[in-house]
Amino acid sequence: MVNTTEKSPVSLYDSFFLHQGEESVQHFRNQVELVINTISDAFQDSDRPFKGRTAQEIQQQLHDVLNVPEDPQSLHEVLREIEEPVIRNSLHVSNERSMAHLHCPPVLPGVLAELIIGALNQSMDSWDQSPSATYVEKEITRYWTQLVSFPEGADGVFTSGGTQSNYMGMLLARDAFCLSEWNHSVQIKGLPKHFHKLRVLCSEEAHFSVKKSVSQIGLGEQAVIPISVDEGHRMDPMEVRHVVERLEQEGLLPYVIVATCGTTDYGSIDPLDELAEFCKEKGIWLHVDAAYGAGLLLSQEHCHKLASLERADSVTLDFHKWMFQPISCGMFLVKERKHMRLFAHHADYLNPLEDEDDGILNLVNKSVQTTRRFDALKVLLTLKVMGTRLLGQMVDRTMEVAQFAASELNKRPAFYVENSSPELSTVVFQYQSEGSCPAGELNRKIQQMLFHKGETIIAKTSVRGETFLKFTILNPRTSEQDVSVVIDEIEATAKQIIGGTYH
Ligand SMILES: *Cc1c(COP(=O)(O)O)cnc(C)c1O
Repeated sequence: MVNTTEKSPVSLYDSFFLHQGEESVQHFRNQVELVINTISDAFQDSDRPFKGRTAQEIQQQLHDVLNVPEDPQSLHEVLREIEEPVIRNSLHVSNERSMAHLHCPPVLPGVLAELIIGALNQSMDSWDQSPSATYVEKEITRYWTQLVSFPEGADGVFTSGGTQSNYMGMLLARDAFCLSEWNHSVQIKGLPKHFHKLRVLCSEEAHFSVKKSVSQIGLGEQAVIPISVDEGHRMDPMEVRHVVERLEQEGLLPYVIVATCGTTDYGSIDPLDELAEFCKEKGIWLHVDAAYGAGLLLSQEHCHKLASLERADSVTLDFHKWMFQPISCGMFLVKERKHMRLFAHHADYLNPLEDEDDGILNLVNKSVQTTRRFDALKVLLTLKVMGTRLLGQMVDRTMEVAQFAASELNKRPAFYVENSSPELSTVVFQYQSEGSCPAGELNRKIQQMLFHKGETIIAKTSVRGETFLKFTILNPRTSEQDVSVVIDEIEATAKQIIGGTYH
């Protein structure tokens, strides 16, 4: 006779959920331990940020483990299967010599919060799906409005990152303009008659998500007017003034100026105060993209660089850039709460209007998402466990090491440094060409060779049409010593390329 109780599907799927009872808790504990062991083995054995395999090799290795079985497999077995192809082939951003993109090593409170976030699985759209999380997000958001020095009455919401926050800024600024200029609700009626006249100004070095957002909200990339930058890679306010005057003469409507507080390549900060003054004079919305630069909000030594941030109408912040949070974790802030209403649409099942009358807070009213992660918990746990002083010091330390990197590169005749006194924690530089190898090609090869060696990961970018190299220092554990070793390695690699190809 078949034993139906032991193998019944009920008891099988029972073990895959968290529930009351010692058995479930014990099972959970064991499984978490397996995960911890797998991660820590991978960390212990790897002395470099990347295994160096090619895309083809990685796909080949993955091929063998991506088959999907019909029957359950033990977690232990699956972890063992994916350990090499997935975990060890990852880019290890916590390694001190991973210094390529704005891609930070996550702090443990943030990583551990992810476990709680997943286990609780709150959804931030309606209060009845996140009764306490709603208020955690509300208070954490308020904390950041205060750090930005926004007045009472400011508001904000967690986002998936800088791209979504910039999108929200472009959308809100446009809808606020259409409402005040033409008493036209874009929310209800769609784009107004003269929408093709709307213009967005931003630095030519602004993040590409500005252009992408403007295109997505129906204005087309043509609506974005790039403003040239000075030698410090900052938007020139005189140029802004001239362009706005010219646009107005042509009958066009510049409705928003995007200032970048920490450009992706140079970390440059547009002149916030002058731009805010001009925006006030003209009644133009000022959106500040501080996805990167907001890291300085907790810094003691460098927060003065963010002076006048509070004069913005809306601000983009990223916690997964320079605030050590696991992806994804971003925020959008707006100075006047009333503008958030432009995002609100009502669904009877979720956030009916009567809820508002009853004082129920449904965060979906402020978001472009519906079901949304409880990312606020990561920020809460990190702020509480680490304290703001230490977090600020960590940011300052990365600044210090970036400054060291710039001066060290300056000392070595083989290098040209594009930003020799870094505003934030990036350094853009080039290995000068020797002999007949063009500099652009040489630097591109250096970056590629280093990536495939995997011992140091640096980025490349384009300056005046030529390939340059870039350090982005986001790990406070990266030391001057690490930087010196990396520079030595770049030199050695360059010599190898020149030697191999041209001698
Ligand atoms: C990274 C970045 C963005 C985009 O943010 P995501 O979080 O990647 O979506 C926007 N602006 C700036 C200045 C950035 O550095």
